[in-house]
Amino acid sequence: MIPFLDLKSPHVELHAEIQEAVNRVISSGWFILGPEVDQFEAAYAAYCDAKHCVGLANGLDALHLSLLALGVGPGDEVIVPSNTYVATWLAVSQCGATPIPVEPDQRTHNIDPALIGQAITSRTKVILPVHLYGQPADMDAIMAVARQHGLAVLEDAAQAHGATYKGRPVGAHGDVVAWSFYPGKNLGALGDGGGITTSNDNIADKVRVLRNYGSRQKYVNEVKGYNSRLDPIHAAVLGVKLGRLTEWNRRRSVLAQRYLTGLQDLDLTLPDTPDWAGSAWHNFVVRTPQRTALQDHLLSNGVGTLIHYPIPPHLQQAYASMKIGKGSFPIAEKFAAEVLSLPMGPHISHADADTVIQHVRSFFSSKAN
Ligand SMILES: *Cc1c(COP(=O)(O)O)cnc(C)c1O
Repeated sequence: MIPFLDLKSPHVELHAEIQEAVNRVISSGWFILGPEVDQFEAAYAAYCDAKHCVGLANGLDALHLSLLALGVGPGDEVIVPSNTYVATWLAVSQCGATPIPVEPDQRTHNIDPALIGQAITSRTKVILPVHLYGQPADMDAIMAVARQHGLAVLEDAAQAHGATYKGRPVGAHGDVVAWSFYPGKNLGALGDGGGITTSNDNIADKVRVLRNYGSRQKYVNEVKGYNSRLDPIHAAVLGVKLGRLTEWNRRRSVLAQRYLTGLQDLDLTLPDTPDWAGSAWHNFVVRTPQRTALQDHLLSNGVGTLIHYPIPPHLQQAYASMKIGKGSFPIAEKFAAEVLSLPMGPHISHADADTVIQHVRSFFSSKAN
């Protein structure tokens, strides 16, 4: 069996270092914020070429607190991709604001900058692009629309640790960048974790206060804050893993190239990365109208796959009150029906990748006969 995601091997590779980091936190007797969190924040900000990092409890909070720091509230609108994980939309809803969906570019699966302008109204506050599957959205084009309309930009980089846009790390192209350190992400904790990076002092300060009960000084509360802190034990483990992120992303990229070469002449839409997009290859997503049959074929041959994502946010029951009917966002709906994520990760062997390729190929050759 080749699993879709292997969360054991990274921890086997780093067993001794992770054990040491966890023991260090236990021995310190310091379990909320403090030096381990400060150290990881400094290291991650540097890695992302951003001035600040603020560690948070999870990626959804990172999006939510970023929107609050940008001043988003009830009655406001936020431009979001129609093709994303529901968390992107939920963060907007948590502020009492309305997510306004914009369709993706058919090539990149990311928000189409050319369609953003027509979705902007007098209520729009923020543009929220997602670097889906680890591939950066077209930030220069998005920033240009934002500047033209005086809007802020929040990037959802939950899948894009280590990705680059035009050679520079994702981390501060927009006003603020939200990260998730959920275990299955490219940089994942041993549980929930998240954070923001930004080069804006004011935004960093606001999020820092919001994550800790609205308090800068113990028992003095400036605003109605939240409890959303990155735990030191996770910070310590993330610090260890950060040291491997570049190498692990390199291995993902080698695997992606192997898939791209091995699957190139099939009736299958492969990931398409523009020259300026340095993908973190969080997922390797192919598209075919025969998605379900292909997934069944792979599963019966011991290859695990997932669908990212089977139902677009606008068709979720959670968003039924918005009354956005089927057919309203046809590209997102088509993607939901056709996408399939192949096994991807730094610990998948070339032999396993070749087995995946062989079974995808055998599906299409049996169709041809
Ligand atoms: C994982 C993810 C999130 C949410 O992160 P959590 O840490 O699970 O809250 C948000 N947006 C995208 C695109 C994600 O993939």
